[in-house]
Amino acid sequence: MNPPRSLYVHIPFCRHICPYCDFPKLLLSTGYQERYTKALLNEDTRYQGLHFDTIYLGGGTPSALDASLLKLILEELVRRHGTPKEFTIECNPEDVNPRLVSLLKACGINRISLGVQSIKESTLKMLGRRHTPEDAARAIALCREAGIDNLSCDFIYGLPGERMDDLKNDLDWVRKENLPHVSFYALQLEPHTMFAIQKVQPPSDDTLSLYYDTIDTALRSMGLDRYEVSNWARPGFESRHNTCYWRGDPYAAIGYGASSYVDGVRAVRTRSMTDYLAGKYIFSSRAESLAEQEFDYLMCNLRLRDGFSLKDFKERFNKDFLLAYADRIEALRDDLEIDDSRVRVKRDKLYILDSILVDLLDFSSLR
Ligand code: SF4
Repeated sequence: MNPPRSLYVHIPFCRHICPYCDFPKLLLSTGYQERYTKALLNEDTRYQGLHFDTIYLGGGTPSALDASLLKLILEELVRRHGTPKEFTIECNPEDVNPRLVSLLKACGINRISLGVQSIKESTLKMLGRRHTPEDAARAIALCREAGIDNLSCDFIYGLPGERMDDLKNDLDWVRKENLPHVSFYALQLEPHTMFAIQKVQPPSDDTLSLYYDTIDTALRSMGLDRYEVSNWARPGFESRHNTCYWRGDPYAAIGYGASSYVDGVRAVRTRSMTDYLAGKYIFSSRAESLAEQEFDYLMCNLRLRDGFSLKDFKERFNKDFLLAYADRIEALRDDLEIDDSRVRVKRDKLYILDSILVDLLDFSSLR
């Protein structure tokens, strides 16, 4: 197996908890910041000697961490692993100020992902977000002034009560801000979140499909191409880090609740802060069978505009995709595009990716 070329670093602290969120997180006020930083850097020693092409700090809210601790983590990662080609941090707009941005720049961060979610004030309130639309615009301007132009903004659509006009306003804002990368995720009602408990009602599938089409058409007209089901970028601004996940390549990870995939082993870290601080990092760890690796590979790669290469599939799984899946390919001939070298989902069929995967993959192989 190849060594991982990407490292994910989880910073779990948030100033508040959003009602739709299922990520591993804790309130900042729990006061674990310093001990967590120490435990995190200690866990990182498992990857001693590895150089990473991409490092991604996600959360939680990395920008909420005490600035001196954030600086320590960033400097230590660079000292141990070298400066990655793509060095990303997730920030909430309300945290972005000139001091934070110059610290990030000085530590080598060259890509910032902002959790904007919406530019409508009442929607932001419903989502439990603390920033205003003005905060988001100000954060983008500050990043650019500091010379960090590789910016991405996350949005959520399919919210209860959302109207087409709201979505169009978000898209107009993306155009105005001239962003090189955006993600639009449909609201997922994850079990145990406040939205799920409140039985929040998302729009119908037909409405969601119309919204998705509207998003793709508008972003395409701005020069942002959909390179993954929920991600659009100008050429050269695709997220290298996330593409590693979608390609099924190995990746390292450290931090509370984080998952890694190295040498065919998927390891999930604990969501108990007590255990994490005590150095009991791993909650579960399992070597995937070749059938599971193949399942994951197809599920992730078909999310990508470019799909996967038949040669790569053969090298990884020692079989010919076209022969092994012949009967299912025939049934999906209206949905898949297959040429001599690649397999991809047709552009206008990406919105039904889930049902294509159900028809293509053998879910019983996972039992
Ligand atoms: S959505 Fe982000 S800011 Fe909100 S609770 Fe989840 S991780 Fe924290």
